[in-house]
Amino acid sequence: MTQTYSLSPWSLSDLFPSLDSSEMKAAFDGLEAEVEQFESRRQQLTSNISNAAFMQIVKEYEKISNQAYRIYGFANLLFASDTQDQAATAFLGRVEQFMATLQNRSLFFSLWWKDIDDENAGRLMDTSGDYRYWLEEMRHFKPHTLTEAEEKIVNIKNVTGGSALRNLYDSITNRYVFKVEVDGEEKEMTRGELMVYARHHTPELRAAAYQELYRVYAQDAPILGQMYQALVRDWRNEQVDLRHFAGPISSRNLANDIPDEVVNTLLEVCERNAGVFQRYFRLKARWLGTDRIRRYDIYAPVAKAEKQYDFSDAAGMVIESFRDFNPEIAAMVQRVIDEQHLDSEVRKGKQSGAFCYSVAPELAPWVLVNYQGRPDDVATLAHEMGHAIHSMLASDHTLFTFHSSLPLAETASTFGEMTLIDRLLAQESDENVRRDLLFRQVDDAYATIMRQAFFALYERRAHEMVNQGATVDELADAYMENLKVQFGDAVELSDEFRWEWVSIPHIYQYPFYVYAYTFGQLLVLSLYQQYKAEGEAFKPRYLKILSSGGSQAPAKILAAAGIDIYSADFWQGGFDVVAGLLDQLEALPIQKA
Ligand SMILES: [Zn+2]
Repeated sequence: MTQTYSLSPWSLSDLFPSLDSSEMKAAFDGLEAEVEQFESRRQQLTSNISNAAFMQIVKEYEKISNQAYRIYGFANLLFASDTQDQAATAFLGRVEQFMATLQNRSLFFSLWWKDIDDENAGRLMDTSGDYRYWLEEMRHFKPHTLTEAEEKIVNIKNVTGGSALRNLYDSITNRYVFKVEVDGEEKEMTRGELMVYARHHTPELRAAAYQELYRVYAQDAPILGQMYQALVRDWRNEQVDLRHFAGPISSRNLANDIPDEVVNTLLEVCERNAGVFQRYFRLKARWLGTDRIRRYDIYAPVAKAEKQYDFSDAAGMVIESFRDFNPEIAAMVQRVIDEQHLDSEVRKGKQSGAFCYSVAPELAPWVLVNYQGRPDDVATLAHEMGHAIHSMLASDHTLFTFHSSLPLAETASTFGEMTLIDRLLAQESDENVRRDLLFRQVDDAYATIMRQAFFALYERRAHEMVNQGATVDELADAYMENLKVQFGDAVELSDEFRWEWVSIPHIYQYPFYVYAYTFGQLLVLSLYQQYKAEGEAFKPRYLKILSSGGSQAPAKILAAAGIDIYSADFWQGGFDVVAGLLDQLEALPIQKA
């Protein structure tokens, strides 16, 4: 059973042979005809519609969406395969425009559904089977929905308003060129290339990378800060004033289907546990041979380890680590590879980073990584395959309910990564490599849990301040205060970090999105703890969470697994796992890298 795997691009032929194929043309034509037919259903949508007629319309809507997702998925994946290809770029643009038109033409369905009285909605949901949660969720927005004419105006004005501002932010910041002197030579780089130096062995290079990053952002800070103020006002005008959400964060919470009080508890527990990662930074200072680390050093490596893993071995290890947990999920990873849905090689023009893209429940997801042989790359492969497994385990659900909701979206991926790291640690005899793996785990936990929680805390404050007329400088002062609470006296902060907030695309693009990362990572730490304590007995409970996909509210899916997200103790449990990791690290004899 020694199968070998090689680096390769993916195939999109399970979707379409090519963008100019007759199949693609037929798909566009078919979709056009189906939407026209769907529009004619408008008269049937009355409060006394029969259950059978309603379900037929829902299924037609699903069929249209499925075809649209296939075209949209193909366009996105083709673009990711080669972002420099003009035909792919133009096709993506055309598809986006087409989809926006389709969306507007079918808007009447969701508006009608939100508007119908509770009694008839209940009657129709009773026979809707697995579509139920999707229907329920739409109705959650009923008190926050405007009339059709108003919704259309909001949509149209968004294109040239908030959305245009966000695109402008992207255009401005993606043009930035950063310059750092490396080995006596000045190098020009992108932000992605620059931030590799945040993890460099040389302290001067780490400092230079951050100083250059914020030198460039600070130059535009008055403009970027002004854009942020406008977006925050726009958010408040729409979500609070027009749609009557209780506060700016509440509309995001409702979209995640997480009650406000749960998010408040989560963030409170994080703030209370700032000391856990401060303890980690003090430990890191000892390993780096200094009294106190600088903000520049928080991701500094403590061991010089340059272990490389051949791709075939890496793919084999990933499959084996999933097989150890459950043979069925290992078979799912195998399916992604066998169906050529994995793009693993590094290629010019290919999108950087990694992702997993699920088009529809009946198709194996597509996975993109840029494999370069480092331990991180092996972990990333396990992470993305975890996403694929999550979606395949939920493939019995409808197109609208198989995708997990955002707060649960990182469950299988992070869990898969942790089992893989444990496997690497168990097989590794080189102490340097082991230490590197252990410290990286805590580095990542910091970046996903505490850093994101403090972004969310800052957003909450900033939205309040902007509403009260705060200036850009006042917002920057508030950001520094936020960092001081986060790092205490464990990390030396320098002044350029006051501009970090204008460099975080998430707080511009998706206000209050970031706490979902904190939520997901703390949840997985707790689950992993349960797995270690219970072994086999834990597995069915975990698989049930994954196979629920997005067919129920996150709180309900987790409650069925005995998890109470309303309880501060539950979230504290995640921090206790981190504290346990720190106990292990503190027990290691210190060696200078
Ligand atoms: Zn992920």
